[in-house]
Amino acid sequence: MTARLKLPSADDLTYAQHQGWACCLCGKSLWTKVGGVSVGRARGGVGAHSFDIEVYACPDCAPGSATPGG
Ligand SMILES: [Zn+2]
Repeated sequence: MTARLKLPSADDLTYAQHQGWACCLCGKSLWTKVGGVSVGRARGGVGAHSFDIEVYACPDCAPGSATPGG
């Protein structure tokens, strides 16, 4: 079970966060051995056009989601 995290709006993400290269919560780079874990989908969009994208977080921000010793 993954604890539900408060995800940012997709509109507020940086390019790196949008691409899944950085933690969507703290902005830390996910170009590490551990990498990031999927924490759900951030909602975004303007007006009638809504979309959401999968976002990733570092293990610090998503405790329990990462696989220990992986
Ligand atoms: Zn983080």
